[in-house]
Amino acid sequence: MDEKNLQDLQRELVRLRTQFKIFYEITQALRTTLKLDEILYIILTAITAHEGLGFNRAALFFIDYNRKKIKGIMGIGHVEPAEAEGIWKFIEQERKDLYDLIEEYHRIKKSPEKPKFFELVQSLEFPLDEKAGLLYETFSEGFLIHLKKENREKFSEDPLYKVFLFEEAVFLPLWAKNQIIGILFVDNFITKKPIQEEELNILNMFASQAALAIENSKLFEDTLFRAHTDSLTNLWNYGYFQYKLDELLDQALRFNKRLSLLMIDIDDFKMYNDEFGHLEGDKALINIASLIKNSCRKRDLVCRYGGEEFAVILPEASQGEAYEIAERIRASVEDNSHLFKRKFTVSIGIASFPEDCQDKYSLVGVADSFLYQAKREGKNRVSFKTS
Ligand code: GH3
Ligand code: MG
Ligand code: MG
Repeated sequence: MDEKNLQDLQRELVRLRTQFKIFYEITQALRTTLKLDEILYIILTAITAHEGLGFNRAALFFIDYNRKKIKGIMGIGHVEPAEAEGIWKFIEQERKDLYDLIEEYHRIKKSPEKPKFFELVQSLEFPLDEKAGLLYETFSEGFLIHLKKENREKFSEDPLYKVFLFEEAVFLPLWAKNQIIGILFVDNFITKKPIQEEELNILNMFASQAALAIENSKLFEDTLFRAHTDSLTNLWNYGYFQYKLDELLDQALRFNKRLSLLMIDIDDFKMYNDEFGHLEGDKALINIASLIKNSCRKRDLVCRYGGEEFAVILPEASQGEAYEIAERIRASVEDNSHLFKRKFTVSIGIASFPEDCQDKYSLVGVADSFLYQAKREGKNRVSFKTS
């Protein structure tokens, strides 16, 4: 074997060893978390970090639930060369490993100013059709697309090209089971280093590892979501209500914010069950749950407290605002009798922080006592503390 062959072989060995090391590290790091955003961050960092694959930019796009849109989820990379240099030096000097990156990610997530590329990717959304250009082409072909500099005129009208301005790039489909769940984009925006054929193999391996990890963590998050929801009404359940009330009250105390709580009880529900049966009773509960939900704001937490009782946490709502929402709920149940076999009404009690009480137990207690006051005063009404 001549000198040149030997050198080639040595280079190949070094390259394979590095790839193996990155792959080993990434699978180890992925084992440490099931949280989707942490997983995505690990994957993208391994692709972009100097000690990893060393691409300049990587971005992930997800196909949404009903397969109508494709959205930018996360991007790592640098809009300006100076920013890139700084971060690379930092990673090398500090000898960061992939585990440390999770911490780094939480720091970025908390900071008010996100890296520019991160923000840019998160702002992107395209319909899942030809208008999404190369992203859609990768989705419909189902194979990796390697765009070379020579073919630039072919993609000068591409919507992603217009914002990313890449010279050369790779688009990879993320296959999970039998469908594509997203697209991975990589390029060498800063160094302009040409992308080699061998790099495509490892990118493909990364894409399948990424798709698997994403799918697993989505399953886990779905399970977690199901554990927190009430299976009949799809509202948050009692356990989650307690957990969120603690958390939101804590925030309200810390940041000097308001918070209100509604306790809602359906009037004469037992009679409805007795007259029309439990199946009809269940249907009525489902309908009332959605009437309540539709009368609330997006950020409110509508929960099934138990039986025919509901609790709604209203972040940042004063007693006055809580009353408006409660009254909207009460009227909406009363006015939608066509949904039921007979007219329904609800009684509601309100408690507000900090006006009425300071801690979780008294908040629930006060809302409860006004609920019973509403019942005593004749039902189908909203009661609260008047000074
Ligand atoms: P009030 O106006 O005083 O609230 O009277 P009420 O009949 O609504 O209250 P009561 O506490 O006497 O009865 C509540 C009923 O709610 C009894 C129970 O069978 C029914 N219930 C609780 N959970 C469910 C459920 O998941 N499905 C059905 N169909 N009924 C339920
Ligand atoms: Mg009750
Ligand atoms: Mg009742």
